[in-house]
Amino acid sequence: MSEYSNNYYVQTISTHTPYPCLAQTEEADVCVIGAGLAGLTAALVLARAGKRVALLEAERVAWGASGRNGGVVSPGYSTSFAKIAGRAGVDCAKQLHRLSLEGVEIVRKNIASLNIGDANPIDGTLKVSRFENSTEAQKNIQWLEQTFGYSLEFKSKEEIRSLLISDKYMNGVFNPHAFHFHPLNYALGLAKELERLGGHIFEDSRALKISTKGASRRIETARGAVHAPVVLITCGGYTDGLVRTLTRSYVPISTYMVVTERAKDLIGTAIKSSSSIGDTRRSSDYYRLVDGGARILWGGMITTKQAEPARLGTLLKQRMVDTYPQLADIRIDRSWSGKMAYARHLMPQIGKLDDGLWYCMSFGGHGMNTTAIGGTVIAQAILGQSDRYTLFTPFGLEWNGGVAGTAAVQLTYWYYQFRDFLQERKSQQMN
Ligand SMILES: Cc1cc2nc3c(=O)[nH]c(=O)nc-3n(C[C@H](O)[C@H](O)[C@H](O)COP(=O)(O)OP(=O)(O)OC[C@H]3O[C@@H](n4cnc5c(N)ncnc54)[C@H](O)[C@@H]3O)c2cc1C
Repeated sequence: MSEYSNNYYVQTISTHTPYPCLAQTEEADVCVIGAGLAGLTAALVLARAGKRVALLEAERVAWGASGRNGGVVSPGYSTSFAKIAGRAGVDCAKQLHRLSLEGVEIVRKNIASLNIGDANPIDGTLKVSRFENSTEAQKNIQWLEQTFGYSLEFKSKEEIRSLLISDKYMNGVFNPHAFHFHPLNYALGLAKELERLGGHIFEDSRALKISTKGASRRIETARGAVHAPVVLITCGGYTDGLVRTLTRSYVPISTYMVVTERAKDLIGTAIKSSSSIGDTRRSSDYYRLVDGGARILWGGMITTKQAEPARLGTLLKQRMVDTYPQLADIRIDRSWSGKMAYARHLMPQIGKLDDGLWYCMSFGGHGMNTTAIGGTVIAQAILGQSDRYTLFTPFGLEWNGGVAGTAAVQLTYWYYQFRDFLQERKSQQMN
């Protein structure tokens, strides 16, 4: 079984009708390259506006990160408000945060309006801290309420430990507006709607070359081609050498997930919350119950060089047992990895290379809401409806630093892991 098929979501999809491989010349208004959630969202917005869309996917719909992730849909980005404001200014950072809230609602609305019941959304996320930070957490809650009218609930150590039977957690913040879901079923639901609206989806159809002829572009695959005046590239962490400027502008980062065997009673001795759970560390764990509480889906760790998922699965199990020693005997059923695209500034890269060539990528580990807004604002820009995508202009295509840049990412991650460890140990000693 390939690593992709070993993914829990692939094993639990409701239905998936395969889409054809492109084997002819296709005329379109817009050619979208990459059928992850960024490409699917953009293609759907374009098709809803009446555009003829051709969507090319090298493998299968949502074969990349979009069909393999933790399934947590929450506001924000892969970097902090302070860092965003530091580069773009406070006003722009506030507008970007509002957009990130909108991203959560776009996904929620699509699930409801397209009746994607098998996306199985479950409300609530818990952000837990392994070190004492109550004052900071409460201040942040107050600021979000005052600035955005967005209300979160602080949870004390006692409240958190009544839900999560672990002596690691010191406090937490509950977000009732965020949710978690089955991202692959959601992506397949978007694809189905795109097709219903007349969009043409091609799987096993890698874009190999883009050439320009007058106002039109020709996108070649192994067995066919698309002619379109507008091309949108949404290839995420799987962006290949198709457009060199894009390849040089991001670092592909691998991250890992496991799902346990079915063990409802044992899991019930550890986790008594249906919310998704993530901790505040830079090298955080995130997890949630699936199959009605019978399994845990657990994610974490990053590497710049893709590691063997089973080996990383063992490390994730150790992290699970470090948090919940009562789960020592639980078996891991499946492990898999996925690649995320990170820009050096950690923000999405959304814009155009020239009049007909657009890109929308680098959603990092926070792609479920941000691909929704990225796909939406880029499609609105192509349609001439809005220039909201320019909010991302301060976060352009910067060189990724080559081999040294990649090595720096891995070293920074290890450094953060070490800092997390020291901070946690200090906090445990004081309590
Ligand atoms: C294990 C894991 C856990 C995560 N957990 C979360 C989470 O809980 N919450 C959250 O918000 N985010 C999470 N993320 C991040 C999120 O999944 C990504 O940010 C998001 O899915 C990226 O979407 P995308 O459309 O940009 O790229 P992808 O979904 O990776 O799609 C890109 C597609 O482009 C295709 N492609 C590449 N080159 C070509 C070409 N030349 N021609 C045609 N097609 C091509 C690829 O085959 C791929 O299908 C996680 C990521 C991973 C890997």
